[in-house]
This record gives sequence, structure tokens and C-alpha cells, in this order.
Amino acid sequence: MSHNAIYPGTFDPITYGHINILEKAAKQFDHTILAVADYTGKPTTFNLEERYQLCLEATAHLENVSVKKFKGLAVDFAISQGCSVMIRGLRAVSDFEYELSLALTNTKLNPQIETVFLIPSLRYMYLSSSLIRQLADLGSCLKDFVPPCVELALAQKYKS
Ligand code: ADP
Repeated sequence: MSHNAIYPGTFDPITYGHINILEKAAKQFDHTILAVADYTGKPTTFNLEERYQLCLEATAHLENVSVKKFKGLAVDFAISQGCSVMIRGLRAVSDFEYELSLALTNTKLNPQIETVFLIPSLRYMYLSSSLIRQLADLGSCLKDFVPPCVELALAQKYKS
């Protein structure tokens, strides 16, 4: 039986932290779908199409990973794609409460989907998209944190 996973998120924008989690997932599952959410509940810097395109470029090296956009509930999208596992990343303790409530809510919505938490390598533990956006706004060098395509997109976005 094939074992497929979904890794949903906002990816505004995708960072080496997300990619680190995705690489770990790709080793464990036959196929992993990076699912870029349309609805995020918060204003985003990059629109859905921009976030999707950057994810596509940044994950092109991963053979058993595909990138898709989705609307609505992540659990519904997971089922429609034949995935039984939802990947989420856990960084510091600060992620824990939010991720726990999300995982429990998703189990309530659909008990068929199991949330699996992956922990990033130490060097990505404190990396977040919001931190990256602030650094970009301040004109910082981002090459250790995001792939070149994202660095370029951020430079263009914050130029104005
Ligand atoms: P969301 O808005 O759904 O939280 P994000 O794009 O911010 O979407 O994050 C998607 C998932 O990736 C979340 O589980 C988040 O905790 C995880 N994540 C983000 N950055 C990192 C990182 N540096 N290391 C590990 N996990 C991360």
C-alpha cells in the first residue's frame, strides 16, 4: 500500500526550515504533497500564486514531492489526494500549543488523518517566514535562510 503525506501551510514565503521538514518527510513517505493554503486567516505578503511558484522552484530537487494549491480544509484536501498523514513542523516550545490544538481539531474533523510532527535540524529551529519578512524589509542578506529564488522575490517585494 502506498503511504502518502501532505504538508500543508501558508509558506509566505517558503524557507530552508520548511524544506528541511519536507526532505525529512520525503525520506519517510512514498509521496509527499506540499499543500499551499489559499485561506490563511491572516494577510499574506505573497499571493497564492506567488507562494505556490516559489514552493515549486524551491522543491524541484525532491523527486517524490509535488506542490499543490488548496482551498478549504486541509483534512478534506488530504482525503481528496489519498493522504492519511499530515506533516507539521515543530520548532521551539512556542509552536507547541498552536500545533497541538490544530492537530486535535483536525482529528475531530476527520479521525482518518493522523498528524505527524517532525523536528527540524538545529540550525533551522528558530527560522520562521515572519522573521524572514522582517529581515528582508530591513535589507538583510538572506542566503543562509531561503533559496535564491525566494531571496530574489523578497528583494523585489521590499524594493518599493
Ligand atoms: P501555517 O500558517 O499553517 O503555520 P507555515 O507556512 O508558517 O504555515 O508553516 C507550515 C508548517 O511548517 C508549520 O507546522 C510550521 O510550524 C512549520 N515550520 C515553519 N518553519 C519551520 C522551521 N524553521 N522548522 C520546522 N518547521 C517549520
